[in-house]
Amino acid sequence: MNEQYLPIRTPAELDAMHEAGAVVAQTLQAVRKAAVPGAKLIDLDDLARTCIREAGGSSSFLGYTPWWAPTPFNGVLCLSPNEMVVHGRPSGRRLRDGDLLSIDCGAIVDGWHGDAAITVHVGSSTDADDRLVQATEEALAAGVRAATPGATLLDIATAIDAVARQYGYAHLPNHGGHGIGTSMHEAPFVPNRPTAEAGQHRLRAGNTLAIEPMLLAGGERYRTKRDGWSIITADGKRAAHVEHTVSVTDDGPVVLTAVSLIADGLNLSTGVNRPLFGEHSAGTS
Ligand code: MG
Ligand code: MG
Repeated sequence: MNEQYLPIRTPAELDAMHEAGAVVAQTLQAVRKAAVPGAKLIDLDDLARTCIREAGGSSSFLGYTPWWAPTPFNGVLCLSPNEMVVHGRPSGRRLRDGDLLSIDCGAIVDGWHGDAAITVHVGSSTDADDRLVQATEEALAAGVRAATPGATLLDIATAIDAVARQYGYAHLPNHGGHGIGTSMHEAPFVPNRPTAEAGQHRLRAGNTLAIEPMLLAGGERYRTKRDGWSIITADGKRAAHVEHTVSVTDDGPVVLTAVSLIADGLNLSTGVNRPLFGEHSAGTS
C-alpha cells in the first residue's frame, strides 16, 4: 500500500498555529455571545473583524476565492443559519429567536492559519436542534480523539461516522476537513465517512489538520444558492457544523482552536499538561 504523510510542523510553527487558533477561539466566543435575536449577520462579521484585528491576526476568509467560487468571499466569518449548512455570506439578515447558526472563522498569525466552527442556538432552542448540535459536537470529539500517531484519516472518518450513524443523521456529501498550515486548505481531504483513500494517509506527531463534521437532520441532498457560496439542504431541514484545528502529538491530540484545556464544552482533553495559550488565555475560562 502506498502510504502518504502530512507535513511535520516544527515547535515554532506549532506555536504560531496555536496563536492563530487562540485568535479564532476568542473571536468565536465573542460572536457566540452576540448571536442573539435581532442581531444582523453583518454586525457579527464586523465584531469578528475587530476581534481578529485587535488580537494581532488577519482573516483567512476575507477575499478567499477557491476555484469554484464566482466571487471573493466577502467576510471574515461564514454564517450559515438553519437549512444553510456551510459557506453562508455575512448579509443584512437579522437573526430570529429559534434560529440555529453555524459560525466558521479562520485567522492567520505569522503566516500560519487556525480554522474552527461552532453551531449555536439563537435565543430559545428545541429538543430536535439540541440533539443535532450534541451529535455534531460528539462526532467532532470522536474524530479529534482518533487523531493520534500511527492512526490514519480512515480512523478519524470512522469515528465521526459512528456517531452520525448512532444518532441517525446524514453527512453533507463531498465536504470535510483538511490539512492546514501556511494555507487554510491543504491536502489531504479529511473525510467524515470512511473512504479507501483515507486509509492511505497515516498520521505522525507534528501533523496538523482541521476536522469538521457537518450533520444534516434530513436527507443528504443539497444545493448551492445563486450567490455561488451558500450550501443549503435540498429538503430545508436543519444542519449543524463544528470544527477544530488539531495537532497530532505523542501525548495525544491537541486542540489548537480552544480557549481552555477543556475544549469549548466538548469535554475533550487536549493531552497537554500546560496552559494552552499562556497570556492569550487571560480573561477566559
Ligand atoms: Mg472552517
Ligand atoms: Mg475548515
